[in-house]
Amino acid sequence: MTISPQSDLFRRLPAVDEILKIAAIEALFEDYGRISVIEAVRAELDRLRGVIARNQCSAADLDGAVAALPAAIAAWVGRMTSPSLVRVINATGVIINTNLGRSPLSRRAAEQIAAVACGYSNLEFDLEKGERGCRDDHARHLLNRLFARQGIADTSTIVVNNNAAAVLLALGALARGGEVICSRGELVEIGGSFRIPDIMAQSGAVLREVGTTNRTRIADYEAAITENTKLLLRVHRSNFEIIGFTERPSLDELVELGRRRGIPVMEDLGSGALVETAAFGIEGEANVYDSLRAGIDVVTYSGDKLLGGPQAGLVSGAPALVATLRSHPLFRALRVDKMCYAALEATLSSYLCEHYDDIPLMACLRVPASQIADRCAPIAAAASAFKPEMVATRAMIGGGSAPGKSVPSFALALIPVTGNAKDLALRLRRLPLPIVTRIEDDRVLLDLRTVAASDDAYLCETLAAITP
Ligand SMILES: *Cc1c(COP(=O)(O)O)cnc(C)c1O
Repeated sequence: MTISPQSDLFRRLPAVDEILKIAAIEALFEDYGRISVIEAVRAELDRLRGVIARNQCSAADLDGAVAALPAAIAAWVGRMTSPSLVRVINATGVIINTNLGRSPLSRRAAEQIAAVACGYSNLEFDLEKGERGCRDDHARHLLNRLFARQGIADTSTIVVNNNAAAVLLALGALARGGEVICSRGELVEIGGSFRIPDIMAQSGAVLREVGTTNRTRIADYEAAITENTKLLLRVHRSNFEIIGFTERPSLDELVELGRRRGIPVMEDLGSGALVETAAFGIEGEANVYDSLRAGIDVVTYSGDKLLGGPQAGLVSGAPALVATLRSHPLFRALRVDKMCYAALEATLSSYLCEHYDDIPLMACLRVPASQIADRCAPIAAAASAFKPEMVATRAMIGGGSAPGKSVPSFALALIPVTGNAKDLALRLRRLPLPIVTRIEDDRVLLDLRTVAASDDAYLCETLAAITP
């Protein structure tokens, strides 16, 4: 290969104006706008100049690259103007997968978002009175009805950005400048740097730790109460378990102590299911109803964990306390937008109508393992080049919910023919509609519990088409 002098090669590059006259390039103006196309032309020319400067091409190579410029420019402008946030297929078997956006929303939620997002809405407007309304009236009536069905009356709810925000707001509004008593066995870190002691410090409340890591008794709480005590705090152990020689007071005991000493009791429930999770095989997971029924004054929970709705933090409890949170300046900073209310209301409405399977998270938890097994065969047939094997797995609840808890599932294990499992997993992640898998024993596992059945056809097509 003869390398031409670089100056010759640089001269072979077309000028920007020349490229802009090419019909295929002009055709991009309509979709992407002139400025983007010019940026793409410059970027691709710069790339070729870099190749020449590094002595990486011959004249023939360069002519080929110049001929390929229109396609390269179209690809560049396409990439540059595309969103980085895209849909993926969750074949990891982790149901509430925080990395993959937690709960998928229901169709109904998506439709409700679309209905209010592109126009005006009565977000903060009372249509009857024709005057300013309250955004937090949305969703509340639906929750109140759900609570009423469970025999829970006289409860109010507000919605903020996420549960971390809900905890921060509740501590700030109810305990700033005072003490909050919490068990040493509940000073959890949820991940993403949400640590109870740190949130406490941020809120301006002082943490009073009581008990030990494994055992805390109601007497420990009582002994720690002073005239400065503003709150008794219970935190759900969302992502770990303490087993063995353990003890912690029941909700009833905490509530009784709080009532007797005139101190509100708050519970950071984390996941906050709105159904009895035992019905689909998740035993012992706390739900919002149990906490409110026990008389907990303020319960905080996520919208996008077991509830199966949008990212949000809900605070339900005694109306007077919720009103205190409502009027705290932080509420204004942490409040949610119309799209969040739209999705939350649609999700809650599915609960009210008992259309649980409309909520993707509920459907995913409820589907019997035998149905998942049935879906394996056609996908295995399409992926035959990878010598797929159906394996029984456990799909994790995940997302800081139901620690260590899982539901039975089935996965297809693919054996990479060229390269190793990591390479194959990367290729699947690089698809236009990425498939995110997990690797076990140098095999790529596609766990079907977290894959919507409506995506099976895509899996078949894709796995049949890629070279093993
Ligand atoms: C998940 C969780 C949080 C944080 O909730 P986000 O909605 O992620 O902000 C806080 N506390 C507990 C106990 C949790 O499980």
